[in-house]
Amino acid sequence: MAAGKVWLVGAGPGDAGLLTLRGREVMERADAIVFDRLVGDGVLAMMPERAEKINVGKEGGRHPVPQREIEKILVEKALEGKNVVRLKGGDPFVFGRGGEEIEALKKENIEFEVVPGVTSAIAAPSAAGIPVTHRGLAASLHIITAHTKDGGIADTDYAALARLGGTLLFLMGASALPDICAALTKAGMSPDTPAAAVERGTTARQRRIEGTLGTLTEIAKREELRSPAIIIVGAVAALGKEFEWKKFLPLSGRKVVVTRPRGRAGKLCAKLRALGAEVVECPCISTRTMDVTLPPLGGYAWLGFTSATGVESFFELLAKEGRDVREIGSAKIAAIGGATAEALRARGLAVDYVPEVYDGASLADGLAPLAAGGKILMLRAKDGSPELTEHLRAAGADFTEFALYETTYKKPAVLPDGADAALFTSASTVRGFAAAFGGPVVKTACCIGRQTAEEAAKHGFEEIRTAEKATLDSLIKTLEVDEK
Ligand code: SAH
Repeated sequence: MAAGKVWLVGAGPGDAGLLTLRGREVMERADAIVFDRLVGDGVLAMMPERAEKINVGKEGGRHPVPQREIEKILVEKALEGKNVVRLKGGDPFVFGRGGEEIEALKKENIEFEVVPGVTSAIAAPSAAGIPVTHRGLAASLHIITAHTKDGGIADTDYAALARLGGTLLFLMGASALPDICAALTKAGMSPDTPAAAVERGTTARQRRIEGTLGTLTEIAKREELRSPAIIIVGAVAALGKEFEWKKFLPLSGRKVVVTRPRGRAGKLCAKLRALGAEVVECPCISTRTMDVTLPPLGGYAWLGFTSATGVESFFELLAKEGRDVREIGSAKIAAIGGATAEALRARGLAVDYVPEVYDGASLADGLAPLAAGGKILMLRAKDGSPELTEHLRAAGADFTEFALYETTYKKPAVLPDGADAALFTSASTVRGFAAAFGGPVVKTACCIGRQTAEEAAKHGFEEIRTAEKATLDSLIKTLEVDEK
């Protein structure tokens, strides 16, 4: 068997938007992905379903996998003939031990490639409004590790650093911050030199603290600065106040989980990201067109569709059977929701009725009188909401139900760490989420409509918010209220 290949991929500083296009391409083709603790949740969520996922940076009391062990895993997987992605926070070569991994691969003659990443050393300050160089203030930048191999404070020539006059960027320094400030002052830098720290830069939890070499230690202690953080020393460190931009976006500081199926979440995620939210895609359901034959479509007064997925499945089945939409003759068409109507219009079918409220009960209540005397064919999901059929029955409508697709639950690749809210666009996504995570792992459930909210109420969320209208924009609005 031919050996596989290993790609060392820089995942960027956290924000999924800062993964490179090349990185994403390579990830999409991976058979196995070996990832670290500092890789952003949004990036992890992009790991393809079929790839084997190996976490070598475990948290929560469990020790990370030792470096030599990681190298062994890479070699092993490649020798199995796999395309292996070694996903690392930031850039693989900036204190990322990428070189050591390459040495191990070369020893075994395994092919490799490196996909550079956006390093946190520059991106975290930048996301907090600190430019690492600035005309007249800093003409060079220096990236320094605060820790040595054995975990002690690095044996750095602070006197040399003090003389450089450029921007000093310390990585792995959250706990060593007092020592760094003291050593630089002792080496002759003024205690008034601006200094700052950026914690979890580019993520929703980004924080910037700012002071001077003389005051930052105290401020960091008071603010409980935690790793991962970049420490910035030099005149540019004072520019953050003025240049900070992220916090002005309406959803900055919010980390939200999107539970829609893959392929249906793009628009919602893009809108959320544009507003400044950190988005983690956790598709909790997927839909599949049933392996069925469509019934004869003639003779109906109305056809009803309840989702865009239903419309797609309908046309898929028609095409599969070599049939033609003209079979529906002059039947009128009812649809729940704007997206469903849009999907129909896109296929050349005008929609005759959309209820004001986008749910099954409202469709039934509005449609029954319109269809009086005529036959209705409801084309929908298997196990769809019983309210629709109950209301049609209660109104004495002459209807037939046909299941076009079914929904299955899925376990997403990542459990989003510390998200504020999950967005649900259907009751089935709520059920899928609860099944995947075994409970309400986020505090707030934001729901697109009443039925979705009723489902959420069964699963113990601390807070449930319902969109005023059943649209994505209205759903997003539920996040804008409140608390930061
Ligand atoms: N290869 C990585 C750095 C790995 S060393 C890169 O290029 O970014 C790990 C250190 O990176 C952390 O201790 C912290 O100092 C820094 N770091 C990583 N992600 C960070 C983030 N989002 N915000 C602030 N610092 C970060």
